[in-house]
Amino acid sequence: MSDICRAPSWLRCDNAATMRAPVAAVIALSAALATVACAGGSSGDPSPGPTASIAPSKSPRAAVSGCEGGPDGSPRVVLHGEGLDSLGPAISKALAKASERSDSAYGYRPSTSICAHVFPGDREFIRGLHDQGGFDRATAATYEKFLGTFGRDIATGNDAIFINAILPQRVVFIAVHEYFHVVQSHLPRPVGVPTWFEEGIADWEAQKIEPHPQTNWLALLVSSQRAGSAPSLSSLATWDQWRTTVAQGNPANPSAGYHKARAAAMFLEETDGEGAASEILHSGATTLFEEAFRAVTGLGLAEFESRLEAFLLAPGTGSQ
Ligand SMILES: [Zn+2]
Repeated sequence: MSDICRAPSWLRCDNAATMRAPVAAVIALSAALATVACAGGSSGDPSPGPTASIAPSKSPRAAVSGCEGGPDGSPRVVLHGEGLDSLGPAISKALAKASERSDSAYGYRPSTSICAHVFPGDREFIRGLHDQGGFDRATAATYEKFLGTFGRDIATGNDAIFINAILPQRVVFIAVHEYFHVVQSHLPRPVGVPTWFEEGIADWEAQKIEPHPQTNWLALLVSSQRAGSAPSLSSLATWDQWRTTVAQGNPANPSAGYHKARAAAMFLEETDGEGAASEILHSGATTLFEEAFRAVTGLGLAEFESRLEAFLLAPGTGSQ
């Protein structure tokens, strides 16, 4: 279990939640993204392999959640509310691809279906974290500005992801992001995995399946890096640091923390190969993260960050 986990242990770690930027920034982002289509997977081609099934919502906090049944091990999507029907197939298709990816890249295939609970807005999301996820009400209320997190479906005990669909154009990306947090939680991780690594890997995996709605995210990051306003990785090591940075936001670039973490995951893959993240996350609980990182990359974290920033500041980065 992560050292930065805040939730009761039986809930799994909630350190990987996806926060929403402050309201003003969200409004600006929403406007900027208004023309971005949300049509599911990036390629549009049918995905072979596991399929995901979609269920209507059942009664709240009941013994039946909608997560029951479905093909073994395949993701299951449960929609809680009117107006979400159009999102279901896109989420389902993306999670089926995520399931294949987690198996091939991380060697993790769930033995039971991972359930995706989808809620139409903030109030329903918070209530759902209590009703379907078993969060106590006070803890659930702290997720008011979040777009997603993960835990368990209390009716079945299965792993679950919880999605706030208040920004529909971001739902598919977030669903895949949270799915990979579930995957991470099952790997023999080293001790002290920093938050930027967890978030960056989840975002980079999501990016491969459903491109980030801010298609110019790298250019935005490069711009803030040149201006000296991009957060450093070392300032995003703990969950509290992460949450503070993301909550503060920057109206011009509200996802700077995620952009930086995603760029780190991308850079790791470019420099050390596609299997680097998986290898680090399979290092085992008797290894410190930095030792695991050095064993795979040959670099300490400070040196890696220095090289990442040099890459971001290099002419041409983010220009295409
Ligand atoms: Zn996350």
